[in-house]
Amino acid sequence: MARPGTIPAILLVSENRVTPPPENLKDYSIEALRVRLVRDGLESYRAEQISLWMYQRGVDDPARMTDLPSEQRARLVECWEARSLDLVAVDRSRDGTIKGVLCARDGSQIESVLIPEENRTTLCLSTQVGCALACSFCATGAFGFRRNLTTAEIVDQVCRMGPLVAGGRRISNVVFMGMGEPLLNLPAVVEAIRILLHPKGFALAPRRVTVSTVGVLPKIRPLLESVPVNLAVSLHATRDEVRDRLVPLNRRYPLRELLSTLRGLKAITRRRPVFFEYTLIDGINDGIEDARRLVRIARSLPSKVNLIPMNPHPDSDLRPPPDETIDRFLRELAASGTTVTLRRSRGSDIDAACGQLALRRAAGRVPEDPPSRSGDRAGVGIRD
Ligand code: SAH
Repeated sequence: MARPGTIPAILLVSENRVTPPPENLKDYSIEALRVRLVRDGLESYRAEQISLWMYQRGVDDPARMTDLPSEQRARLVECWEARSLDLVAVDRSRDGTIKGVLCARDGSQIESVLIPEENRTTLCLSTQVGCALACSFCATGAFGFRRNLTTAEIVDQVCRMGPLVAGGRRISNVVFMGMGEPLLNLPAVVEAIRILLHPKGFALAPRRVTVSTVGVLPKIRPLLESVPVNLAVSLHATRDEVRDRLVPLNRRYPLRELLSTLRGLKAITRRRPVFFEYTLIDGINDGIEDARRLVRIARSLPSKVNLIPMNPHPDSDLRPPPDETIDRFLRELAASGTTVTLRRSRGSDIDAACGQLALRRAAGRVPEDPPSRSGDRAGVGIRD
């Protein structure tokens, strides 16, 4: 639903009339937009027509939505807007990863990352400007929290980044793993996911959408009861003593409660696995005992483990383990029958790798390139 609180409470004065600022068409799921537009006197099917223009044809200007009657178009132009983000910089990594820097109406900047692979193109979305959770290895955490993104700002990342995909391909997967904690902005995130999944929206299959959380326990069930997406949980440690240091939210929601919440989800997820993300940090959580405890956790519910060697950044003294330690950890999990993948860094040369999104770009930003037509394919970044 629309969240009126997200619309600046400034009234615009024009022609001696006081008019509210325009609402954003992308702040509504398609179902909610239908209800909202009917209230304005439009036919209910207009919501789907408008959505097709915005999400499938990339048209944000109602004046160009030619299957609407001209008086409706004029009214939409007057009272509504559809664009909430502008692409202000594009950085291209040697490995094919593309980072977009997007600027909101209030000047806030966020980042989204496109990861082209052989069989899919994944967009990593942000949900907040910064993050309040201050995980000790994460650059976004060091950046601090500014504000939640609106639904329009979440889906506009897909609209702006989509045209950067090479070779006329489309974004096939979306992961909520950019800046911010999605479950601390749940209403906007759920509404955005409805747009991602709707056939007249981005028409993504639910199994191609993944929401990642550090474990905001009271919000996990409401998320999965609202939208049938995959859940990823940033675990990073197998004992509270270590996790308290890495993920301060663990002091509020310790491991035992996290795991019992996840086990209780079976009825909703219908045995779809939980994806455990585990950032490997030198000397902190990379021992063989950690691997063995991780095996026990992974076995206790339908799950897969994704190991991510920590990407170093200037705000943290923590470092990734040496390759031999990573290999040993990986082998221990694989030998136990745990489904495990190792995510090798993508886009680290442009600060686009996991946990590096904090708007710390090198001076002399790369100007925006036109969408590449070369069909350049990046190597596969995930090793099974
Ligand atoms: N707040 C959510 C969404 C962000 S997802 C969450 O934490 O799950 C970002 C993922 O990248 C998380 O698993 C996070 O722990 C991981 N990450 C953060 N900083 C990292 C770093 N420096 N190196 C590797 N992974 C990192």
